[in-house]
Amino acid sequence: MKKTMHIGLDDTDSTRKGCTTYVAALLVEKLLKLDAGFIDYPNLIRLNPNVPWKTRGNGALCLRIQHDESVVDKVKETVISTVEKQADLECRGTDPGIVFFRSPRIPRELGTFARKTITGVVNLRDATRLLKKFKGEAIGFKSGRGVIGALAAVGENLQADHTYEIIAYRTPENYGSKRMVDEASVFEMDAATRPYTFNNVDAEKRRVIITPRGPDPILFGIRGESPEIVKKAFQMVKVLEPVERWVIFRTNQGTDAHLKRVEKLSRITPYSPLIARGTISASPRMIRGRHMIFSIKDESSEVDCAAYEPTGALRAVVKKLIVGDQVEVYGGVRSPSRNTPLTINLEKIRLLKLASQIVFRNPLCSRCGRRLKSMGTEKGFRCDRCGARYPSLTKVEARMKREIRRGLYMTSTRSQRHLTKPAVRYGMEKRHERVEELAREWHFP
Ligand SMILES: [Zn+2]
Repeated sequence: MKKTMHIGLDDTDSTRKGCTTYVAALLVEKLLKLDAGFIDYPNLIRLNPNVPWKTRGNGALCLRIQHDESVVDKVKETVISTVEKQADLECRGTDPGIVFFRSPRIPRELGTFARKTITGVVNLRDATRLLKKFKGEAIGFKSGRGVIGALAAVGENLQADHTYEIIAYRTPENYGSKRMVDEASVFEMDAATRPYTFNNVDAEKRRVIITPRGPDPILFGIRGESPEIVKKAFQMVKVLEPVERWVIFRTNQGTDAHLKRVEKLSRITPYSPLIARGTISASPRMIRGRHMIFSIKDESSEVDCAAYEPTGALRAVVKKLIVGDQVEVYGGVRSPSRNTPLTINLEKIRLLKLASQIVFRNPLCSRCGRRLKSMGTEKGFRCDRCGARYPSLTKVEARMKREIRRGLYMTSTRSQRHLTKPAVRYGMEKRHERVEELAREWHFP
């Protein structure tokens, strides 16, 4: 009789070294050698990107396996020693956590805890209480904060919407050097697999974005709707350096799982990403750094929204908003500081209803058709061309054509967060889909 174990991992990486997905990828190979069977793809759970103490990508991992009772200690030892070896423990702010959860079923309360970790803020005490209640085992390094994400990864079953990512890793001698991937082949792969893969290239800048920058072990990652499509896309990319290993992950990336609807603007809380509606109450203005700021209000409150320069296409739309436009905003919430009030950092905006833009203009000459010149306040108009005078005429109201349309607008692909649902995924959301059987090849080696 095989036993089930869920292994959660979080916060092993730093900006200068490592990646928690790589630890998971190493463990896939090692656990298979202990004859473990995987009952799901490794889960990559992105947590709330708006908490101030987040790790780089804020991704936690969960491996769900079945194993012989005889190897249980060996499994745990393997996980712990791999984390110890791979984690950047000297780095301040890297506080790895491991959770072993030995039960075929995940309690509902753990699911709730996971959702809270993705949409809001939780603390280590909440995690410790749940671990005790459900007899989970945890190993926290240093402050132990990583235990929060590790437990959240165990608790998130991804039965709502989810996507897949195949990640290929480099051999260590190439860490830090330029990633050698044929760019043309990435554009071809994108054209052949879109919309079932997403965020491969940035259309605005004609740039490949599957390759990260930085010294981490990731060569590239391709995101998509099924294990089969990401595998197919992977095979289409011409790779010009050795691939040490690759793994297909199941993930909440590209699902908007972090956004929670807020009914009233007065209920907005810092660090909780949201969806909210309001009416533009202060026109967009540009601030230093070429960022656009505007305000929205409802009957309960008024709040600032920001479209930062790197949001590209989104910022361009925001520039054209006027007072009275009704919008739905999507984004993270920055807490107020000494110089700035609480602000929603926009990821997307939906224009619900456009106000009419009225301008007052001088009337036209009734004799020759030329636009008249003003003779001074309330002194009427005169015509430059034919000399006619109209002392009693007043300005006329004109409705301007708005240069934007209703609809959903989002940040450019290159500045989208891991969790942001891209435009191509609308209508492709999955519901209550369970993984019955894994694809034949979902990892190497
Ligand atoms: Zn005239």
